[in-house]
Amino acid sequence: MKRIFKKTAVFIIAAVILLTALPFCASAEKNGDYKLIAITFDDGPGAYTEELLDALAERGVKATFFLVGSNAKRYPELLERMVAEGHQIGNHSYNHENLAKLSTAKIQETLANCRKYLAAAGGDDVTYYIRPPYGSVNSTVKAAVDAPLINWSVDPEDWKYRNTDTVVNNIMGAAKDGDIILLHDIYKTSVDAAKIVIDKLQAKGFEFVTVSELLRRRGIEPEAGKVYFYARNNGVNLGPLVEPEPEPEPEPEPDPEEFDESLLEQHPAYPAIQYTRYKGIFSAEGDFLPNKYMDRGLYVTVLGKFARADVSGFTESGFTDVPNDSYCAPYAAWASKTGFMGGYGDGLFGPGDNVTREQLSTIMCRYLETFDLLPKGDIPELTYTDADKISEWAKNGVAVCSYAGLLMGRDDGSFDPQGYATRGQCAIIMERLAKYSDPVGYARDIAIMKGETPIGPEGFEEPEGVSAMPDPSKEGNANISASDGVTTVAGIALTAAVFATDRKKKK
Ligand code: ZN
Repeated sequence: MKRIFKKTAVFIIAAVILLTALPFCASAEKNGDYKLIAITFDDGPGAYTEELLDALAERGVKATFFLVGSNAKRYPELLERMVAEGHQIGNHSYNHENLAKLSTAKIQETLANCRKYLAAAGGDDVTYYIRPPYGSVNSTVKAAVDAPLINWSVDPEDWKYRNTDTVVNNIMGAAKDGDIILLHDIYKTSVDAAKIVIDKLQAKGFEFVTVSELLRRRGIEPEAGKVYFYARNNGVNLGPLVEPEPEPEPEPEPDPEEFDESLLEQHPAYPAIQYTRYKGIFSAEGDFLPNKYMDRGLYVTVLGKFARADVSGFTESGFTDVPNDSYCAPYAAWASKTGFMGGYGDGLFGPGDNVTREQLSTIMCRYLETFDLLPKGDIPELTYTDADKISEWAKNGVAVCSYAGLLMGRDDGSFDPQGYATRGQCAIIMERLAKYSDPVGYARDIAIMKGETPIGPEGFEEPEGVSAMPDPSKEGNANISASDGVTTVAGIALTAAVFATDRKKKK
């Protein structure tokens, strides 16, 4: 009954270790064919410890140092090096007292005195295993300590022989898998013996691990007050913990609005950018920022400039979120009065809100309607692959603009109604609008831009009677004045409702 319980316990512990270790590296945690051994050094640090640390580093060996507090106090930098290089440091009392001869209070006192130097080097959140001096343990010691007690299974009696060959032979004659070897790094002969023994055992396939690692890899969960002498392979023989590969830094998403302005001539919208700058629709000053999303403030300004609207009388924007001195304030006021583009209906215009392609189409459609530019004939049904994604209120606007050739779908046949329109795309649309509304004037503009039509000394003059675009100065349409009482209320209400709905959806 007892045996079964023990086996079950080992299995449960192993399973727990496996499960907790899985996130690190599943493959390394399978049982393997490992030959493990722990080499321990007591009573230091001393005069040969540094040489020993160099030798361990050269050989890739992790050892365990059970330090005497009075020595640890003298070599704090050596303790720090031990910790930094992956060795385990443990408690060997402050003055090498025989713990079995002390009271509980004295046991705890000497261990605490040593531990403070360990903690200074290795942090204080570690359980420092205890090696009782002389391996001397009784029930008082076991009950007094808060950490596992680590004795040994291979003792070459190096302190007695002080002879390298003897120590080497004693160890080599005894060492086997799972052993804990005892040495003292305060003797030169012991340090020399350690180097030779390590080379020999490594050649035999032994892996040197710290005591805590030996226990872990043998599935042993150390208990405070329990004495350990070795850790044989009883069916649990785990691999080393592998540091998880650091997650590769995710490539930062390229900012879709970024653009290297020095490459503007290579941008697909460049001809339209040139044209719209030439016509004063977009400012010729500064960077064009072709991939930057259009916002409502710029869109209303562009449409106003295209219409050559006289906005001089519009000194107040009429919207709480458009300061009167903002560049788009007179155009927002003008568009609102003209009726093709209102605010959100709550005193807000949303000048900084990006414009989606379906919003852009809807506003454009109302613009065409306002200036009597709607295409003639029946508007065909939308055939975009994502036509079902176009908002109900935007379907007519998208259909009208598509039929007029102002907005087109993407190469894959989609329209991307909720995608934001960029300044470059807007330039293309405005150039198309120029061609659509006034093909003759547009052809002339292009000829002038190409230098095919000479510009006289007075500069270019608008020829008369060729524009299909209503001339605002003559028809009093686009330049509806600020004091005019004419407001297409229905139009504003529609646009406002459309954007209010869309805004709610976005939230
Ligand atoms: Zn000792």
